[in-house]
Amino acid sequence: MSVEVQYNFIAGQLLANDSGETFDVVNPATGQLAYRVQVADDKIQQAAIESAKKGFAIWSAMSATERSRILLNAVALLRDRNDELAAIEVRDTGKPWQEASVVDVVTGADAIEFFAHIAPGLEGAQQQVGGDFYYTRREPLGICAGIGAWNYPLQIACWKAAPALASGNVMIFKPSEETPLGALKLAQLLSEAGLPDGVFNVVMGDGKVGAWLTGHPDIAKVSFTGEVGTGKKVMAAAASSLKDVTMELGGKSPLIVFDDADIDNAVSGAMLGNFYTQGEVCTNGTRVFVHESVYQDFIEKLLARTQANIVVGDPMAPETNFGALISKDHQQKVLDYIQQGIDDGATLLTGGTALTPENAPNGYFVAPTIFTDCTDDMRICQEEIFGPVMSVLTFKAEAEVIARANNTAMGLAAGVFTQDISRAHRVIHQLQAGICWINAYGASPAEMPVGGYKLSGIGRENGSETLKHYTQVKAVYVGL
Ligand code: NAD
Repeated sequence: MSVEVQYNFIAGQLLANDSGETFDVVNPATGQLAYRVQVADDKIQQAAIESAKKGFAIWSAMSATERSRILLNAVALLRDRNDELAAIEVRDTGKPWQEASVVDVVTGADAIEFFAHIAPGLEGAQQQVGGDFYYTRREPLGICAGIGAWNYPLQIACWKAAPALASGNVMIFKPSEETPLGALKLAQLLSEAGLPDGVFNVVMGDGKVGAWLTGHPDIAKVSFTGEVGTGKKVMAAAASSLKDVTMELGGKSPLIVFDDADIDNAVSGAMLGNFYTQGEVCTNGTRVFVHESVYQDFIEKLLARTQANIVVGDPMAPETNFGALISKDHQQKVLDYIQQGIDDGATLLTGGTALTPENAPNGYFVAPTIFTDCTDDMRICQEEIFGPVMSVLTFKAEAEVIARANNTAMGLAAGVFTQDISRAHRVIHQLQAGICWINAYGASPAEMPVGGYKLSGIGRENGSETLKHYTQVKAVYVGL
C-alpha cells in the first residue's frame, strides 16, 4: 500500500528536500501509519530563510489594511473548510470530532479575524519637546519563528501566525512532528487567500529543526508552545542572538471549590478542566481543591457523571467525547504517573487503566482517572501529567488553600468556584496564574490574553496587547 508523503512549504509552494529523509506520523486512535513527512534538510532550511526575507520585503511594505484584507480572506476559507480541517486534526491528535469540529478550526479562525481587525488601528505617539517634537512608529520585528505543540496543532499555528502577520512580520513555522498536517494546510490556505510567497513558511522535523530555528541569527523572535524543559532550551538558544521570545509552557493549575459553590457547576468545571481533549490541555485544573464541608457531595456527583457521561472510543464516531492520547509513549507516561499516585498512597476512585474500546481497539486510550486522598507533595500533584488524571484534595480555610494552590513551580491557570463575589476576586488576585476563571473553566476567546506566570511562560497570545510583542518602537526626533 502506498503511503502519502507530505512536504515542506516554502515560498508559496511544496518543496521536496534533497536528503529524502522522512518521519512517520501515526494515527493515535488506530496505531496505524497515517502518512510520512519530509524532514527540512539544509536545502529546505536555507530556502526558508531566503523566502522569508523576500516575503518580508513585500509584506512589511503593504498597508495594514491591505494585509488585513488578505487575512480575512483566509478566515473565510478556514470557516468554509472547517470539516475537512477538523478531520485532519482528529486523525493527527486522536481528539474527538465532537470537539475538533466546533473548536479547533473555529478558534484558529477567530484569532486571525481578531488581529486582522485590530492591527490597522495600531498607532504610534507624538509629542512636542521644547520647539521640536518626536514621534514613534510601531515597526514589525522581521522573521518570526513559530514552534508548536501537538495538542491543538492548527489552532496553535493560527494563534502564532495571526498577531505576527497582522503586524507586518513573516513567519517560519515548525509544527510538532506528531501532528504536522494542520499547519501545512494552513499555509496552503493562506496562499490561496492571497498571502504573498514567503510570508508563512512551514518547516518539518523534530527538535533538531526547532533548534536550528531558535539559533538562527536572521530570526528576530521565537514564539514557542511546549514543555517547560524544552522552553528553557529554546530561550538559551534564542539568547545567542538576543531574540525576543514568547513562551507558552506547561501547567499544574489549581481549581478551587468553596463551600458555597454551585456544586453541579463546579463538577462541570472539574470535568472540563481534566477530561476535555482527554486531558491534554495545558491549562487543565488538575489539582482540584474542595472545601471539606462539600467534599462528599462533590465526589459523589463527580464520580456519577464521569461514569455516566464520558464516551471513550473511535474519535470520529459521533457519540465519542473522549479520544486517544497522542502516542504509545505518552500513554505509557500517563500510566506510569497513575502507578506513582497509587504507590504514593492516593486512592484511585475510578479509571487508572489503558482502554481498548470496541470501535478502536488499537488506539492509545487511558480511562478518565480520579484520585482522592491526595497530598500536595505527591508527584501527581506537582508535575504536569498531560493526560486524563485528576487529583482531588480537601481544604478548610481560604488562606490555607491560596498558599497551597500557589505551592508549585508553574503558574499557567486557575479556577475558583464560589457564589461570594468578593471572595472570588480576592482569591483570584492572590493566585499566581496568568489565565483565571470564576465559576467557569477553560474558555479562551481570541479577545482574552493567555499566558503563564512563573515557569509557565513569558509573554501572551491573543488579546490586543499581543501586538506589542510582535512590533518594536522606533522613536524619531524632529528638529525644527
Ligand atoms: P515539547 O516541548 O516536547 O515540543 C514542543 C515543540 O518543540 C515541538 O514542535 C518539538 O519538535 C519542538 N522542540 C523539541 N526540542 C526542541 C529544541 N531543542 N529546540 C526547539 N524546538 C524543540 O512539547 P509537546 O510534548 O509537543 O507539547 C506538550 C506541552 O505543551 C505540555 O507541556 C503543554 O502544557 C504545553 N502546551 C502549552 C500551551 C500554552 O499555551 N501554554 C498550549 C499547548 C501545549
